[in-house]
Amino acid sequence: MLAMAAAQLGYRTVVLDPASSCPAAQVANAQIVGSYDDEQALDQLGAVADVVTYEFENVPEQAARHLAGQGRLFPGPDALAVSQDRLIEKDFLSSIGISTAAYRQVDSQAEIEPAVSALGGSAILKTRRLGYDGKGQARVQLNSPNDAFQELGSVPLIAEAVVDFDCEISVIVARSISGEVRCFEPAVNVHRNGILTESRAPSGQPGAVVVAAKVAGTKLAEALGYVGVLGLELFVMADGQIVANEFAPRVHNSGHWTEHASVTSQFQQHIRAITGQPLGDATSSPCHMINLIGDEVATVPALLADGGWQVHLYGKAQVRPGRKMGHATRLN
Ligand code: AMP
Repeated sequence: MLAMAAAQLGYRTVVLDPASSCPAAQVANAQIVGSYDDEQALDQLGAVADVVTYEFENVPEQAARHLAGQGRLFPGPDALAVSQDRLIEKDFLSSIGISTAAYRQVDSQAEIEPAVSALGGSAILKTRRLGYDGKGQARVQLNSPNDAFQELGSVPLIAEAVVDFDCEISVIVARSISGEVRCFEPAVNVHRNGILTESRAPSGQPGAVVVAAKVAGTKLAEALGYVGVLGLELFVMADGQIVANEFAPRVHNSGHWTEHASVTSQFQQHIRAITGQPLGDATSSPCHMINLIGDEVATVPALLADGGWQVHLYGKAQVRPGRKMGHATRLN
C-alpha cells in the first residue's frame, strides 16, 4: 500500500524482503531478496534509495541503524527500538505522561507470582519482544499451576494488569520532517483472539475522548521526534479515561480504511512525510473496515457483488488460519 501511494506521487520503490514476490514487491519497481540483517542486501538498498522506510516493527534495530548511518531513514531507529520492547515502550509512554496498564518486568518463572499478586491477582504475560496479533501472550491467575514462563519461550516478559476497558480505539498520527502533525479520526476497533477484525471511524466516542486520543498521539510523535505515520492503540475506560496499549512505528491496520475514506490516506501521508513534503488533509468520511482473516477471503466474491465494499487483497500466496489476507472498506 505504501508502494502504491509512492507510485501515485511519481516515486519508484525498491522492496527488501526475505520472500521473493512478497506482497509489496508485486506492486513495486524492484525487489532485493534478502533477510533484514543481511548487510550486503541493506547496502544494496541504501545505494539505490534516496529515502528508506519500513512497515514492519520487527526489522532488527541494527539493520535500521546501519541504514540510518548511510543516509535518510524515516522513521529513525530510536522510535523502532522503543516500540520493539514492550517494557521500554511502556516506560517511555509513562515518562511522557501517557497512562498505560500497570506492569511489571518478569525475567523468570519465580517472578510471575509476585508480579501477578502486585497487579491484583490476574495479569497478561507478554513477551517483551517479537509478539504480534496476540502471539506471545498468556493470561495468568494467582496460584495457577502452569509454567507460563517456559510456555512463552523462557524469554524476558512483561506482566500487565488486565484492563477492564469499555472499548478499544486507535489514533493514526503523521509527523512531517518540518514537525507538522496531523491525526486521522480515531477508529474504534474489535479484536478476536488478539487479531484486529474490524474498525469503524468515527469511533462514536465523546469529543473529550477523541481529543485526548489525538493529544496523546501528537505528544508521542513529538517526543519521539518521529517522521512518518504511527498508530497508537488505546483502551477507553468506562469513565472516558484513555490507557495506552502500544504503538506501532508504521502505517497501522486500524487505519487501512483511510485508503478509501480519507482525503489523504495514511499511506500517502507517510510517503509525504518521509519525502519531506507537506502533509495532506486527513479529513475522512464515516466508514467501516473489516479484515479478511484466513478463510474469510472466500467472502470476496460476495463483497464484490455488493458494490459498496472496496476490497484490497494483499497477494499472499497461501491462506492460513489467523493470517490477514486483505481488508474491505465501506463508506457509511
Ligand atoms: P497487543 O498484542 O498488546 O496489541 O494485544 C492484543 C489485544 O489483546 C489487545 O488489542 C486487547 O484486546 C488485548 N489486550 C492486550 N493487553 C491487554 C491488557 N493489559 N488488558 C486487557 N486486554 C489486553
